[in-house]
Amino acid sequence: MSNWEENVRKVVPYVPGEQPKNNNVIKLNTNENPYPPSPLVAQAIKDYNAGLLRKYPDPASSALVDELAKTYSLKAENIFAGIGSDDVLSLAFLTFFNSGKPVIFPDITYSFYDVWADLYRIPYQTKALDKDFNIIKEDYLCDNGGVVIANPNAPTGVELPLEVIEEIVSYNKDRIVIVDEAYVDFGAHSVLPLIDKYDNLLVVQTFSKSRALAGIRIGMAFGQKKIIDYLKDVKFSFNSYTLNPLTIAVGAAALKDDAYFKDITAKTIATRERMKEELKRLGFSFADSKTNFVFATHEKLPADEIFKYLKEKNIYVRYWNKPRINNHLRISVGTDEEAKILIDALEELLG
Ligand SMILES: *Cc1c(COP(=O)(O)O)cnc(C)c1O
Repeated sequence: MSNWEENVRKVVPYVPGEQPKNNNVIKLNTNENPYPPSPLVAQAIKDYNAGLLRKYPDPASSALVDELAKTYSLKAENIFAGIGSDDVLSLAFLTFFNSGKPVIFPDITYSFYDVWADLYRIPYQTKALDKDFNIIKEDYLCDNGGVVIANPNAPTGVELPLEVIEEIVSYNKDRIVIVDEAYVDFGAHSVLPLIDKYDNLLVVQTFSKSRALAGIRIGMAFGQKKIIDYLKDVKFSFNSYTLNPLTIAVGAAALKDDAYFKDITAKTIATRERMKEELKRLGFSFADSKTNFVFATHEKLPADEIFKYLKEKNIYVRYWNKPRINNHLRISVGTDEEAKILIDALEELLG
């Protein structure tokens, strides 16, 4: 008998939402954008010279970073690009959370945070949200090893006021505060302007949701030069060539189509607001969502029953059998047509 398993870094991996093989599914379970990416993306792929793949990519992803700088009125030195925000966030955990003190984040939030903490052996402590899924600010004004806040939060959809985040960032001057803004483009407020004022603030965003590019894998972090440089040092000690040249070209192309971005984002917001009305009418309640999903519970029927019923109808939503949220469903906002199919199915069950 050999004992090598004793020395394995054992982790319980993050479980993403199901990706069914079957195309007939109304897929409202992973917060993907229901619209295709900008037509400029298809054009960039068509125009791409495959011969360039012979060479290693630009390790700084400059074509993308420069376009991001233009889009967000920043300097390139304030931007870090990675393979989706999951890559950016995990590198940030590795780079900044080394004090030995517990990193703090809400008990109900993006379920990758505790996985990265476990993977990197970073101690952490969760802080319970109140019964309406709001952060209790005072919980974050304490001694700790760093703070991670998704704003708006997932899977709750709740947005925290900017003043509250600023107070948390300002109190925690001696450690890094990460604000994960994966959903900020769907009508929430970004803390991005605060990076000028606070050198401990790292703002993370993604192309996966609002820019309809979950498949291409682009995420970014914004911060002062010092914090971005530390992130780069770790990245370049790990894997220099993360974003491939086709991804870089696609990302830059997507950013050039601001009108399209605004259009699909506005459509999603409009569908969300209609969906909220319909869900309310059917007896659901939920915290006000500023995202592309609604986290809802029903007054009579248990969430797992509704989940199973919808799945049989080929409508996929997300359900977690976890304390405090096991009577909720996270329903992504699709197109108006998809929302209608969902509401009709729920009407049949509940009406
Ligand atoms: C979707 C999501 C991410 C990660 O998305 P990427 O596809 O890796 O960019 C990060 N944080 C939250 C809260 C998310 O919902």
